[in-house]
Amino acid sequence: MNRYNNPFPFSDDNKRYHTWNHYLKHRFHTKVAKVPLDAGFTCPNRDGTKGWGGCTFCTAAGSGDTIPSHEDLAVQFEQGLAQMRRKWPGCDAIAYFQAYTNTYAPLERLQECFDPFVERADVCALAIATRADCLSKEAIAYLCRLAEQKEIWVELGLQSIHDATAEAIHRGHGYQDFLTCVQRLSQTPLKICVHLINSLPGEDVPMMIESARTVGSLPIHAVKLHMLHLMKGTQLAQSYAAHPFHLLSMSEYVDLIVAQLEVLPAHIIIQRLTGDGLSRDLLAPLWTQKKVQVLNEIDKAMVRRNTWQGRCL
Ligand code: SF4
Repeated sequence: MNRYNNPFPFSDDNKRYHTWNHYLKHRFHTKVAKVPLDAGFTCPNRDGTKGWGGCTFCTAAGSGDTIPSHEDLAVQFEQGLAQMRRKWPGCDAIAYFQAYTNTYAPLERLQECFDPFVERADVCALAIATRADCLSKEAIAYLCRLAEQKEIWVELGLQSIHDATAEAIHRGHGYQDFLTCVQRLSQTPLKICVHLINSLPGEDVPMMIESARTVGSLPIHAVKLHMLHLMKGTQLAQSYAAHPFHLLSMSEYVDLIVAQLEVLPAHIIIQRLTGDGLSRDLLAPLWTQKKVQVLNEIDKAMVRRNTWQGRCL
């Protein structure tokens, strides 16, 4: 029990879940900020290898929060770090390869992108967003070599454990592909973060809780939980206009997140509970722009119910 009367063991404050900040602070002993990068990769779900047009919710920017950049990676990084350091002077960085599928290229291209960041003293880790069907044995072996120098996070977009949902959103791979990948990665020093989206069409609350419970039982290190963002220009926005489906309200989302946290083991780091949809392209739900309020409501609900991450396991 800490001074906030909080029984959750991985917390120095009032948070009743294992925050990314808590992990970074105890792991690197300094402020660490993620610097998003667009390395110009594409995605097998857009170029015809797995499908055309991509996942139905994905924007032209490849599902990143970043504005697509054609700048050199080093320039993008310097600009991003300078921006972070205005907020947190002297912070270190995680080079975050965010846009599209960042292991979908020949090994030489991956080396060109990742090697320079492993060498930098101001980078304490790399985070690489990708798909479970885009990590060859060769790519994993290369990332393991990098992990001898820097912490390497592999971020796997899963979105849902339910294959019917994966088909409906044109994910282009199913849960079994994801499991095979996690099994491979779990034999390595690479850190695994899994991305889930709440409120996808056809899913009810028990299905979403089941996704959280199931990924929490796997040998992974972190999760990102997001609310679905309906973004302008996406296939999902079009189909929503023709056949609207229920999007969770803020209070429904808060209830759901609390329930998902209760079934995630305490050691699993929660990298995110909200997304950062670029507001000018966000169609719905507009409450997702109130990030601070959403996070506060989650904290308040957990205190009110005297619950914490992993309590229902
Ligand atoms: S795998 Fe990622 S980048 Fe590719 S279409 Fe789906 S969300 Fe977009």
